[in-house]
Amino acid sequence: MGTLVYLEDHEGELVPGSLGVLSKAAQLDDDVAAVVCGAGVKELAAQAGRFGAGKVYAADDPALEAPLPQPRVDVLAALVGEQGFDTVLFAASVLTADVAAGLAARLGAGLNWDLVDLELRDGALVGKRAALQDSVYVDVGWKGEPRLALVRAGTFEPAESGGEAEVQDLAVEIQDFSKRAVMVERAHAESEGPSIEDADVIVAGGRGLGEPDKFALLEELAKALGGAVAATRAVVDAGWYPYATQVGQTGRNVSPKLYVACGISGAIQHKVGMQSSGTIVAINKDTNAPIFEYADLGVVGDLHEIVPKLTDLVRERRGA
Ligand SMILES: Cc1cc2nc3c(=O)[nH]c(=O)nc-3n(C[C@H](O)[C@H](O)[C@H](O)COP(=O)(O)OP(=O)(O)OC[C@H]3O[C@@H](n4cnc5c(N)ncnc54)[C@H](O)[C@@H]3O)c2cc1C
Repeated sequence: MGTLVYLEDHEGELVPGSLGVLSKAAQLDDDVAAVVCGAGVKELAAQAGRFGAGKVYAADDPALEAPLPQPRVDVLAALVGEQGFDTVLFAASVLTADVAAGLAARLGAGLNWDLVDLELRDGALVGKRAALQDSVYVDVGWKGEPRLALVRAGTFEPAESGGEAEVQDLAVEIQDFSKRAVMVERAHAESEGPSIEDADVIVAGGRGLGEPDKFALLEELAKALGGAVAATRAVVDAGWYPYATQVGQTGRNVSPKLYVACGISGAIQHKVGMQSSGTIVAINKDTNAPIFEYADLGVVGDLHEIVPKLTDLVRERRGA
């Protein structure tokens, strides 16, 4: 029996990435259900009908208030066991990576992760994922059921199909061992301006900045352009900038209208996260930097000289 899509919620809304996976699932299978887990999430469940779910299971319970994986694994394991879903899909996030892995272990199921596409081939579900450091795409399948998959963040856009879903309450039973982890504190990272996923303009920095304080140069430019600041993995790993701003294979996928890459070599793992940007401008002092192979406009030079001048120019043009 059919496909189940796990819907993640955040601050009272269904996460767009989950709705994108639901929309894709509904294109591939007429029999798609969804499940939402949390406290006070029943209202959200009905919304999934517009994105292709025929039925939505609502596990609405105070025990699910904290975004912890194990209680969700309990809910999903029971649901899949009772209803016999043959496929369970997740949009990848910090939470769902743990939920999917836990569910795979609990059910003894196969999990393919980091998928960038899903299709039916001769009736069989086939996933596509990057391999060999994102230099090739490979097709992946499953040896048995249920088939579990984590889809790379931002892969599928939510598409409203206008349907209505039947919402069914789920009885929630949490295993004792799933109660051992508790949420101690949740805090929001302080940030100004748009997030990198929402920004039309991104100014991104890499190791070429030389030191963490130089991100201030990019923040000034981003502010002048009304955009957000992003970073490469090399610099977030070095603690220069927050992990939430990392673009690439193991970070976020972004597609702003303008992406200004400053002191970024353009490694394939970075490219996969920003290649769908409208216009890519690269500032790099090395003429042979790989980023120039896919930038629309390349500026060869020292970013420490160029970026402040660019910021002044933008402010001048905007009359600020
Ligand atoms: C499994 C795996 C997953 C990965 N995931 C990601 C990911 O999600 N995102 C990601 O970004 N990377 C990822 N990486 C790392 C990736 O391979 C690169 O190491 C990383 O992107 C390099 O970051 P960088 O461009 O900041 O640094 P570098 O490669 O060191 O490049 C710095 C650039 O700055 C230029 N430069 C130096 N000084 C100046 C100056 N004054 N003015 C102008 N230019 C200057 C240099 O010419 C150079 O091109 C991953 C790697 C692996 C193996």
